[in-house]
Amino acid sequence: MSCSRRKFIASGCALVLGTGLANIPLVQSMTINGKRYAMLHDESKCIGCTACMDACRETNLVPEGVSRLEIIRSEPQGEYPDANYSFFRKSCQHCDNPPCVEVCPSGASFRDEETGIVDVNPDKCVGCQYCVAACPYQVRFIHPEKNTPDKCNFCRDTNLAQGKLPACVSACPTQALIFGDANDPASAISQQIATKPTYRNKVPLGTDPQLFRIADRNGDLPS
Ligand code: SF4
Ligand code: SF4
Ligand code: SF4
Repeated sequence: MSCSRRKFIASGCALVLGTGLANIPLVQSMTINGKRYAMLHDESKCIGCTACMDACRETNLVPEGVSRLEIIRSEPQGEYPDANYSFFRKSCQHCDNPPCVEVCPSGASFRDEETGIVDVNPDKCVGCQYCVAACPYQVRFIHPEKNTPDKCNFCRDTNLAQGKLPACVSACPTQALIFGDANDPASAISQQIATKPTYRNKVPLGTDPQLFRIADRNGDLPS
C-alpha cells in the first residue's frame, strides 16, 4: 500500500475507475424523513489501537477472517524513534447515493429512509454479489456463516436497537469517533462538521459518503 493518505486515496480511485464502476448510474439523493446518521473519524486523535475493530467484532458477532471495520496504518512518517503514523478508517460510508443499493436486483441491499443507514436483509439476498462488486470503497464481504453480503450497519440491529452508541464509538479511548444525526444542527457531529475542516473519501464518484474525516496533521492532505 502506498505510504501517504493522498496516494492511498488516489490509488483507490484509480482502481474503481479501472473496473468501470464509475459508470454505474447513481440514484438521485433521497429525502430522509427524520434522522440522517453519520460518523466522523478524527484521524488526528486516532492512535491506531484497534479497540474499535475488536468491539465491532464482539458486538456484531463478526467471525474471524472478515471485518466490518479496518484501521489502516500508514507507512512511518519520519525517522525512528520520532516516526509518526496516520490511521485511516475503512468501513461502509453509508452513502446517500449508494451504488450497492442501485445494483441489487432483489431489494436485499437497502437504505433505511428513517435513518439513512445502508443495510442488508439476508432473507432477500439472491447471492448475486452485485453489491460487493459495485461498492467503490470495497467494504462488503461475504459472511462465512450467513453466506450473504455483510458490512458496517452502524450497529443498527445491535447497539442502536438497544439505544446505545455504535460499539466502535463507545470503545474508542481517545474519542476519535463521533456518531450522530447530521440532520440535527445541535448534534455533536453537526457541530464538528460545521466548525472543523473535514474531508470525505472519493467524493467525485457522486456517492455522497456520510463518513466524515478530520485529517491527521502528520499526514498528507487528502485529495
Ligand atoms: S460504502 Fe459501499 S457498501 Fe457502503 S453504502 Fe457506499 S456503496 Fe454501499
Ligand atoms: S458502527 Fe457498528 S457495525 Fe459499524 S464499524 Fe462501528 S461497531 Fe462495527
Ligand atoms: S479505537 Fe479510536 S483510537 Fe483506537 S484505532 Fe479505533 S478510532 Fe483509532
